[in-house]
Amino acid sequence: AYNRVLEIHKQHLSPVLTAYFSEPLLLHQGHMEWLFDYEGNRYLDFFSGIVTVSVGHCHPKVNAVAQKQLGRLWHTSAVFFHPPIHEYAEKLSALLPEPVIFLMNSGSEANDLAMLMARAHSNNTDIISFRGAYHGCSPYTLGLTNVGFHKMELPSGMGCQSTMCPDVFCGPWGGSHCRDSPVQTIRKCSCAPDCCQAKDQYIEQFKDTLNTSVAKSIAGFFAEPIQGVNGVVQYPKGFLKEAFELVRERGGVCIADEVQTGFGRLGSHFWGFQTHGVLPDIVTMAKGIGNGFPMAAVVTTPEIAKSLAKRLLHFNTFGGNPMACAIGSSVLEVIKEENLQENSQEVGTYMLLKFAKLRDEFEIVGDVRGKGLMIGIEMVKDKTSRQPLPREEVNQIHQDCKRMGLLIGRGGTFSQTFRIAPSMCITKPEVDFAVEVFRSAFIQHME
Ligand code: PMP
Repeated sequence: AYNRVLEIHKQHLSPVLTAYFSEPLLLHQGHMEWLFDYEGNRYLDFFSGIVTVSVGHCHPKVNAVAQKQLGRLWHTSAVFFHPPIHEYAEKLSALLPEPVIFLMNSGSEANDLAMLMARAHSNNTDIISFRGAYHGCSPYTLGLTNVGFHKMELPSGMGCQSTMCPDVFCGPWGGSHCRDSPVQTIRKCSCAPDCCQAKDQYIEQFKDTLNTSVAKSIAGFFAEPIQGVNGVVQYPKGFLKEAFELVRERGGVCIADEVQTGFGRLGSHFWGFQTHGVLPDIVTMAKGIGNGFPMAAVVTTPEIAKSLAKRLLHFNTFGGNPMACAIGSSVLEVIKEENLQENSQEVGTYMLLKFAKLRDEFEIVGDVRGKGLMIGIEMVKDKTSRQPLPREEVNQIHQDCKRMGLLIGRGGTFSQTFRIAPSMCITKPEVDFAVEVFRSAFIQHME
């Protein structure tokens, strides 16, 4: 059966859908933070379907709500009202000041709409994102997505060309995250990411970008509170706040892409932007919002919502469908009832400390960083050269972890950073298990 699946995949599914492992996993079932394959092997899911299964696979409460709604009403389209959408709007709006909500189906679609809003409101055209950003794969958002392995040249006439900030942020390990740049030459600052020197330097670069002619009419500035796909990259302390101020001085709108960082994952706060002490004009969200059910949202101010409405009738068939809204409501309830944000904080802090110990133990662990349950482990050849560990070697460690029952993600320009983002119900004993799996994989690698 396994070989047949591989055959069908090769014959009939798009060649861009590449599997994570040389022997791809055929998954069959999920229960909370665990996944099971067809042979009955179980895996601790430390990536939760790319930072998406926020409260656990097939969470019993979410399942029960989905089943109830399934027997009641699936779809009405956005032109009819139904109770789940209003219940959801009420719940989500309690989490943001004066919000106007647009319900959508995916992160890319949400960011597309945020771009339209920024342009409609500011009457400007240029959009800025960071080097290393991931904001989606639609023709519009592709112009904003700038992770090394994801960057592609669009055929002329396709998509939107937005302005990238040049190397605004290079990670603490010399920016091996940054595209096109050998590690040594772009290493601008040798201090910790939260040092003031780094912040001032990046602010100067940010100003330069804003002052280039192309970005003079800035409509919007997109930022992930922590870059996810780029390998869990954090900004220096205070940087985002100053960047927001500079954008606003020029009439631009600030957009927080909370697709990975929202819904309590960072532990200390419900939204990632709160960890930077900023309040965005537009917040986009997807992934964890529906625990894996396709759902997304754009939340903005009444003024921006009005600017958009004056210019355009915005519509999508599935956004805010009864199934998604019922599931979204139960996800919010579960996060609250089960104290999952607090758990992200507690278990995330515990995990960061445990991984920091591994970093001290192994020469190939260059950096351990992150917040709450969004953690990156950057692999290097050695701590002196800080060159990324070659891809084949990272692949081997990744594969070994899978063999020992642990599923983790990858990110960064050279795919050199392991990304950890389990469901928020994860426990400390499960973290201990994961740390031991990593330790064994590192030891095997060194032998
Ligand atoms: N923004 C961020 C920060 C993301 O990580 C992603 C997906 N990786 C997206 C937007 C796009 O979301 P989707 O895949 O649902 O279109």
